[in-house]
Amino acid sequence: MKNWLKRYLQLDKDIESADYLKKITSKFILLLAFILLFFLVFANFIYSNTATFYLTFSLFLVMSGVFFLPSSLRKYASHIVLHLLALGVLMVVYLNRGQEYTPIWSFLYILLVVSLYGHKAGLKISIVYLMTLLVLLFSFTGITLTMMEFVRFTMVSLFMLFFTYLVEMLISRTLEKLITAKNMLEKLTKMDALTGLFNRRHFDEMLSQQMSSANRGQELLALAILDIDHFKKYNDSFGHPAGDIALVALANLLKAQMRRGNDAAFRLGGEEFALIYQVKNEESALKLIEGVREAVEKLDQHCTINQRITVSVGLLLINTTQGVSVKKAYELADQSLYQAKYFGRNRVVTTSIQADNTKLSACI
Ligand code: GH3
Ligand code: MG
Ligand code: MG
Repeated sequence: MKNWLKRYLQLDKDIESADYLKKITSKFILLLAFILLFFLVFANFIYSNTATFYLTFSLFLVMSGVFFLPSSLRKYASHIVLHLLALGVLMVVYLNRGQEYTPIWSFLYILLVVSLYGHKAGLKISIVYLMTLLVLLFSFTGITLTMMEFVRFTMVSLFMLFFTYLVEMLISRTLEKLITAKNMLEKLTKMDALTGLFNRRHFDEMLSQQMSSANRGQELLALAILDIDHFKKYNDSFGHPAGDIALVALANLLKAQMRRGNDAAFRLGGEEFALIYQVKNEESALKLIEGVREAVEKLDQHCTINQRITVSVGLLLINTTQGVSVKKAYELADQSLYQAKYFGRNRVVTTSIQADNTKLSACI
């Protein structure tokens, strides 16, 4: 297929929602309607079918009106065009008294209406349309149509409607399943299996995103890296499964602390976690992380973990976007974490990158 056509029909885009077929149909209808009408106007003019020429020409003009719709109504352009076409077909059938295969256009209408509205609504609209058409055709039987022609058309159109209904139902169900599976997969690639927190991969993406938008508002971006103290001993004393329970309990605590939209908790690996959050100032950043550290100390009072655990924290405060790479930010927070370990564990060490980013200050 030609590239421009693929782009126009949006076939080059990923399947993002179950509305995929509807979107393509919508584009297809607009393209088809204008090509078709242009051809019909031209053909009727050449063959001097005056009545049909005026009809198709007027339809062409009315339809062109969709390009002048206000933007809020533009999404209905294909709906309007499709029903105008359907009306046009009924009128042509009436003018030609059902002859010259003019009712055959209704097959196309059934296909498009079911694709555009989905099988349930599409079926209802198609039935109303077909009934009108069949009543019209019936009025010509014995005049310009034989009863056999009428019966043949009725049967084929009903089978066509039923089959289109089935196919659309299958396509929409398959798309829904595909989207659900895709969303699930996307979620899984971001998640840590044990704790349900975001994983290291998502941490890198999110830190990069947040750093590029940091300081656009008035807020500080805080990056905290937390590591459980002496966790090897904990595992050695109580076993790996007990260690896992403690990791999950800590993860839940961290998740509960990250309440605002862009704030998030991560498990970077092993017994190392991270928080990315935005705060008004340094004091609020410290207050939050000190609160977390103290809550971890008391975790054994609320959860079924075997022994009190503590965390050491490296906190980096970023209030500039200039000249600081994600890698550098991570390194700085990690250095602070190691200082927190070095100075005795169960504490927070803060580093900040100032606006001119030459000043790096650390405090315990
Ligand atoms: P430090 O205070 O210096 O951080 O000491 P530590 O013992 O916590 O650090 P170390 O790096 O020596 O040991 C980390 C331990 O974390 C080792 C490993 O048994 C444990 N660990 C890592 N991943 C998991 C996990 O998924 N489940 C459990 N239960 N333990 C884990
Ligand atoms: Mg540790
Ligand atoms: Mg560690």
